[in-house]
Amino acid sequence: ADISRISSKKTALEIRGVQKRFKDFVALQHIDLHLYEGELLCFLGPSGCGKTTLLRLVAGLDEVDEGQIIKNGQDISRLKTEKRRCGIVFQNYALFPNLSISDNIAYGLQGKKWTKPLRQERVSELLSLIGLQGSELKYPLQLSGGQQQRVALARAIAPEPDILLLDEPLSALDARVRLHLRQEIRALQKRLNMPTILVTHDQEEALTLADRIVVMNHGVIEQVDTPEVIYNKPASQFVATFVGQMNLLPAKIQAEDWLYVADKVDVRLKLKHQFIPNTGVLVGFRPESARIVSDDSLVTQGIRLSTYLIAREFLGAKTRLHLSLDPSHAAITDLAERTIQIDVDHAATDFLSIDSQVIIDIDEKQLHVFDQDGRAIC
Ligand code: ATP
Repeated sequence: ADISRISSKKTALEIRGVQKRFKDFVALQHIDLHLYEGELLCFLGPSGCGKTTLLRLVAGLDEVDEGQIIKNGQDISRLKTEKRRCGIVFQNYALFPNLSISDNIAYGLQGKKWTKPLRQERVSELLSLIGLQGSELKYPLQLSGGQQQRVALARAIAPEPDILLLDEPLSALDARVRLHLRQEIRALQKRLNMPTILVTHDQEEALTLADRIVVMNHGVIEQVDTPEVIYNKPASQFVATFVGQMNLLPAKIQAEDWLYVADKVDVRLKLKHQFIPNTGVLVGFRPESARIVSDDSLVTQGIRLSTYLIAREFLGAKTRLHLSLDPSHAAITDLAERTIQIDVDHAATDFLSIDSQVIIDIDEKQLHVFDQDGRAIC
């Protein structure tokens, strides 16, 4: 579905059937992926899921075991890094400490094409692009972390690569600089219209930066789509809980599309295919999807649950309520299983005291259902 929707776009890079092992350990199982012209694609996943490995294969820093990497129609899987025309930026800047900022940026400008005047022109063009005019004669350690990372970015872009590869470029920076540079990278990438892959384990970074997100887990791709679809229509339980938060309640499929949720309520949901009655599934909803119902006589359009307030947290813009389905929640042991978290406006919670009953309603459109393999089935 993903490819058909944007198939009018030209492919800049295709990863076709790529596998990678380290001895017996399978780091990447079988990766198929397109990067389109002008697109910013984020590889997102927990530590060890294989995102850096995949980036290194594209860059030619490692070799694929199986499959191909095709750039602008040409198989580059066996080419040396220098021949792949990829600009690379790593987490730790990796600038040359004994070279000036100018010389760092000019480092990749080699070959006949880059005469001295052309090199100088390119360096000053890039310095103004990253807002560091006047720093050409400084050395990396005289710059802040954020400035060094901008120089690393300029150095990567300088030789006009076909593709830009960014491996956790912001994670060594402090929060404020990170937010700022995030927007700069986004603006720069769009302005240069350069197809870019950015590796991150930070879901917020992926959601705010990416045109599309590739969610990875244990060497496989769980889902590839726009941030909106990843968040609103997660294809699996893993995606649903890795990107944003989701409450998950045990449920049983009773018959066809009737579900019995948390041993308490029925709900009718259209499922993708048929299941044997009594199949166990999980029903999920995001913290912001629940509403507190004060008038219980109104009919629900989804599920309505009677809960008890265990704890309240101030989140700034919202209040988070921790709720239990069990009235004797003082004795709750499996907290994770039976605790529900919802985010509501402060005003909606003012009248609630700990232990009081809270009736919540979740619209059917906000409900997700996952089968025993964690695949979304609704
Ligand atoms: P992180 O954010 O921690 O870097 P990642 O998703 O980028 O995580 P990779 O660095 O791609 O993960 O590593 C994937 C798996 O492959 C890890 O379990 C890692 O230990 C293993 N691995 C990576 N490189 C090698 C190597 N050269 N030799 C052996 N195992 C490796």
